[in-house]
Amino acid sequence: METGAVVKAWGLILSGYRPNLSVEITRECPLRCPGCYAYGDEHLGGDVVLRQLADFKGQELIDGMIDVVKRHKPLHLSIVGGEPLVRFRELEVLVPKLTAMGVHVQIVTSAVRPIPEAWAEMDKVQVCVSIDGLQPEHDARRAPATYDRILKHIKGQHITVHCTITRQQSRAGYVTEFTEFWAGLPDVKRIWFSLYTPQIGEDSPEMLRAEDRARVVAEITELYARHPKLHDMIPSVVKGYLQPPGSPEACIFAKTTACLSSDLKRTITPCQYGGTPDCTQCGCMASVGLGALGDYKLGGLMPLRSIFNASFRIGDGMRKLRGEASR
Ligand code: SF4
Ligand code: SF4
Repeated sequence: METGAVVKAWGLILSGYRPNLSVEITRECPLRCPGCYAYGDEHLGGDVVLRQLADFKGQELIDGMIDVVKRHKPLHLSIVGGEPLVRFRELEVLVPKLTAMGVHVQIVTSAVRPIPEAWAEMDKVQVCVSIDGLQPEHDARRAPATYDRILKHIKGQHITVHCTITRQQSRAGYVTEFTEFWAGLPDVKRIWFSLYTPQIGEDSPEMLRAEDRARVVAEITELYARHPKLHDMIPSVVKGYLQPPGSPEACIFAKTTACLSSDLKRTITPCQYGGTPDCTQCGCMASVGLGALGDYKLGGLMPLRSIFNASFRIGDGMRKLRGEASR
């Protein structure tokens, strides 16, 4: 992050705002991926599930999103779903408006339909395509957003490939094969790996065991040294997957990110996963990245986490003064 952006983010935290906003822009998705947290029963707290929640279309959605951004003042907006490209007509209008407001926009998609061409040339836009492993596993989990479709739809883009590793994709050599396939494509700018994050009490085939985590972390660390497209997977950060924050209170990412669902009102807590995520098994890349930043010792003495926590307390005071609930 540039110094200017850090200063702005700090200013927002001190004023009681969160620098990151994540919005489930639609309740719709043509896919039914196993392990999808957005459609989990407890994702929105248990009284309603995402497919039942209101969502918006057309001008109402464009105006609603602009209003949300004006209220939350994020520096970084992550547009998720459901499948955001279900609303591609609205996004074609909305994304340039948001970047003109100075917001960095990330669109997280399965690439089940073509990605608007104009996004490839927009500085403040990041298209993040979720790919669940090599073709046999991915196509089984993510049809109709198959490899063939993705390869067609990313032509001419500069996408970020985002793979959430589950136990099914954690055998030795799997991450290497995946990296070698996607890093070879000119339409891919960078590759990110997260690990599957279960809910508390979950027992599913997606969950990684401790030995799977250790193997995957070692493999990513080795790949980092020879694959420039893994430039964000810095070994000291990736190591954080072996020691997740443990609770939402200890998670800088959760504290700096507001999450809204498709009615543009309902907040998702404690983080984008909703429900009761098992923070001791968190595999969120943003969470470990900010965790590593928090562990950094300013002047070799004071961890940045202490300064963050003091800033959050000041920010909460500011929110109370404005009559809003604290974090
Ligand atoms: S594409 Fe995303 S939102 Fe849709 S089912 Fe799959 S994981 Fe869930
Ligand atoms: S991002 Fe991870 S550590 Fe942070 S609150 Fe969510 S599950 Fe917990």
